[in-house]
Amino acid sequence: MQTEDVFRSANDRIAEKGRQLGWTLPGPFLCECSDVRCCARLELTLEAYEELRSRRHRYLTAPGHEVEGAIEIRRTQGFALVEKLSRAARTG
Ligand SMILES: [Zn+2]
Repeated sequence: MQTEDVFRSANDRIAEKGRQLGWTLPGPFLCECSDVRCCARLELTLEAYEELRSRRHRYLTAPGHEVEGAIEIRRTQGFALVEKLSRAARTG
C-alpha cells in the first residue's frame, strides 16, 4: 500500500468516527501526501471531506504537499486537493 493510501484509510476512519459523534465543527484530518514522515493536520468539515472523497483518485493534502503522480486541482486556504492521473500516465 502506498503512503497516501495509508493516510487515506486513516482519514476514512476519522470521518467514520466523526459521523458517529455527529461532528458539526471541522475535524482533524491527516495530510495524504506521499511523505511518510508528514504529520500535517488539516481542519475540514465532514461535509467537505465527504465531497472530496466521492472521487476515488483525489487526495487531500496540506497546500504545497505532493502526492506522487498526482496534480493539484484545487487549493483553498487550509488544504489542497490533488488528483492522480491514470495508471498508464504515471512514471516510476
Ligand atoms: Zn503532507
